[in-house]
Amino acid sequence: MTVVLDWKTADYTVPDPPAYCTMCGESVHPPFVHWWCADGHILICPECCRWSRHGLMADMTRAIAIDEGLNPPSDCPTLRVAQ
Ligand SMILES: [Zn+2]
Repeated sequence: MTVVLDWKTADYTVPDPPAYCTMCGESVHPPFVHWWCADGHILICPECCRWSRHGLMADMTRAIAIDEGLNPPSDCPTLRVAQ
């Protein structure tokens, strides 16, 4: 995952323009978010980043918290309560 600031200097292979936001379908121009997933590239424009900050990201954070509460990671520190 990266934030693409320029087509030519992107750290990862990013689709050449014209490219379109995965979420809204509008044309993307730097800066935008680039992610890889099983289906390929995910490009997210700044407006969708702004929109998802309180929606998608909050839901993802909540899902992780619930999952880790139900299935604590093996490296999760154990809380000891003094008696
Ligand atoms: Zn968008």
